[in-house]
This record gives sequence, structure tokens and C-alpha cells, in this order.
Amino acid sequence: MDYPGNLIVVAAPSGAGKSSLVKALLELDSHVHLSVSHTTRAPRGQEKHGRDYYFASQSEFDAMVQSNAFVEWAHVHGNRYGTSKKAIEERITQGSDVILEIDFQGALQIKEAFANAVLVFILPPSWEELRSRLERRGEDTPEVIEVRLKNAAEEMAQVSKFDFVIINELFERALFDLKAVVHAQRLKYVAQRRARADTFQSLNIT
Ligand code: 5GP
Repeated sequence: MDYPGNLIVVAAPSGAGKSSLVKALLELDSHVHLSVSHTTRAPRGQEKHGRDYYFASQSEFDAMVQSNAFVEWAHVHGNRYGTSKKAIEERITQGSDVILEIDFQGALQIKEAFANAVLVFILPPSWEELRSRLERRGEDTPEVIEVRLKNAAEEMAQVSKFDFVIINELFERALFDLKAVVHAQRLKYVAQRRARADTFQSLNIT
């Protein structure tokens, strides 16, 4: 199925800076919308239902799995997370671009369901920097940091399955790269053919 909107899927190990990059992109580009996932984990801090996540009970999540409401779902760090089909399909059908901030397992499932989805992997510049970012965040105990680093090695081993790789060394540079990926999708022939049909027509080309 050919949708007028683009699906941009961003994955990264925790500490690579994925959330900050996506947040900055959303502030700069009002045509990109964030896909809000469902999760069985409890809300943290200032998180709001419907804005950060749809917080669901185990049985609510089970019911969505049963009714095929998810285009993908996965176990991540001991909780379940899923992307509802309806939320993204509605947007891309209307021509909006949708960005998904999900783990690598989910990203690969999205690519199977939507052939035109573009997968972006964010890498830290080094192990030392990843460790020091996790430590500076101050959210996790040393034991949890070790688990996150071990998981990061497994996640980063999947990078070859992604279309684009952004190394988040300098935040502004990485943001520029992410904007470039989004922009490139809009310059594809099918996208331009649809968005600039009048120009194509006046040039007598199809
Ligand atoms: P957190 O609990 O820290 O918000 O997220 C933990 C991990 O789950 C992150 O890597 C995040 O990208 C991932 N995640 C969030 N939503 C989804 C989703 O809908 N599907 C999948 N597969 N992963 C998700």
C-alpha cells in the first residue's frame, strides 16, 4: 500500500540521545508527528497518559494483542511496548509524516508491515561516552547501567539492518542529519509526484 505520509523509525541503545533528538525534530517540523506507544510499564515523573505513552494494564495490553491492534509489539527491559496500527495508519493516510521512537525489534517489524518505512539507528560516538552519558543522567544504579551497556551491545549488533546511521557526537550535527533523512523522504519521486502534481503536469511529465 502506498501512503502519502512517511514513516520514520528511530532506534538506539539507551543513552545514545534518541529522545532528545526526536523531541528537537518535532519542535522544528510541524509536519512530523510522534507515534504514541502503549506500554505496560508504570508512568515515570511528569509522564502523561496519551502524550508520552498510553499506559495499559497487562489485560488491556493482552486484549490489544488478541485483537491485532498492534502493528508491532515487543518486550523491552521487562515491560511490553506496542505501536497501534490505527494511530499510524490514520496519519500517513492523511499525508502526515510519523516518527516512531521504538526499540530495534519493533523497528524491524515495522519494516515488514510498511515497506516504505525508513529505519534510522542512532549510535553513540564511543563506549566511554555512552557509559558517561548513562552515569550523568543519574537515573540508574551502577548495576542497571551495566545491564543497559550489555543490552546496548546486542542492540548495536543490529545496525546493519537499518537504512541510515547517525552518530550522535555533536547534538546539532546529529539533528541536522535526522532532518536530512526526513527531508530526503520528501524528495523521493513518488512524494514529489504527489506533492507537486501541478509542476509535473505543466512540464508534461509523469
Ligand atoms: P522507556 O521505558 O525508557 O520509555 O522505553 C524503553 C524502550 O522501549 C526504549 O528503547 C523505547 O524506544 C522502547 N519503546 C517505546 N515504545 C515502543 C513501542 O511501541 N514498541 C517497541 N518495540 N519499543 C518501544
